[in-house]
Amino acid sequence: MDTQLLTRLVTAPGISGYEQRIRDVVRAELEGVVDEVRTDGLGNLLGIRRGSGPRVMLSAHMDTIGFLVSHVDDDGFIRISPVGGFDPRTLVNQRVLVQGRRDLVGLVGMATKPVHLTTPQEREKAPKLEDLFVDVMLPAEEAKQNVSVGDPVTLLREPVETDRAYSSPYQDDRVGVYVLLEALRGARDLRAEVCAVVSVQEEVGLRGARVSAFGVEPDLGIALDVSPAADTPGGENRQQHAVLGKGVAIGLMDSSHIADPRLVARLKERAERNSIQYQLQLTNRGGTDAGGIQLSRAGVPVVTLCVPTRYIHTSNELVVKSDVDEAVALLARFLESAHELSLGW
Ligand SMILES: [Zn+2]
Repeated sequence: MDTQLLTRLVTAPGISGYEQRIRDVVRAELEGVVDEVRTDGLGNLLGIRRGSGPRVMLSAHMDTIGFLVSHVDDDGFIRISPVGGFDPRTLVNQRVLVQGRRDLVGLVGMATKPVHLTTPQEREKAPKLEDLFVDVMLPAEEAKQNVSVGDPVTLLREPVETDRAYSSPYQDDRVGVYVLLEALRGARDLRAEVCAVVSVQEEVGLRGARVSAFGVEPDLGIALDVSPAADTPGGENRQQHAVLGKGVAIGLMDSSHIADPRLVARLKERAERNSIQYQLQLTNRGGTDAGGIQLSRAGVPVVTLCVPTRYIHTSNELVVKSDVDEAVALLARFLESAHELSLGW
């Protein structure tokens, strides 16, 4: 696994609607693996690898959850408004990057009395986002000069790598972007046409995938994303959730789409024939770009390939390297034989 590439991807900020910096990083990578790179009106990146058909759309989203500055008070403390779904309990004492007039590191504090002055009942209350503020460690006047309402804010934490695993904020969905890039690099003798979309605004409702699918007019679509692993204490595995270290997850459904059974069967066949470890994943919550692609124009068969991930939407999103490698291998082997597919009913 190329952890240097993954690190470049996870450390570039890009909340939904403000993807400029990550788009520049991805564009440079994409140019090496496709024939042509375009953008569309919403800012999606479209990398086209020409072929004779069918046309396969891949989609991995480049945007992440984050915040917009909603208020800067007289003392220079910043209030933030969420873009995408956060659990406020995971935010207390985190560090953030504030993209103001210049980049600033912020500390997330909780608007409450210091711990030695609170009662036990007060300490039991879960914080709400309105209780949190960001301290950019500057005198009030300087903070107000550098930070404005609408500035993007992202989680900031150094990635951690071990022999087995890799953890950082924003594996969701930069690890999907990684899988897309590496599978295109690794696919041999590609005959189908591939349109590799690195989409925007997934976290606020699959918006980038929807408009890019309209433009691409694919014959089939594959979303690349993370799926929550329910293999930690407290994680009830009553539904079929993914587990770390057991290979790439083929998503059968979530609240945004039902995977096309023919594509699921094809992926299973490809995995088994090439000794790629996979698992099946099924949930009635959440969504991926597959949901946006599926409802485009007159309808598109779709499926999602997922990298099992612990602690999603926190600063510690955790993946196992072998699962990432299996996802890359399965996508590459699928693409190599995609020209054999016929998807009529
Ligand atoms: Zn995602």
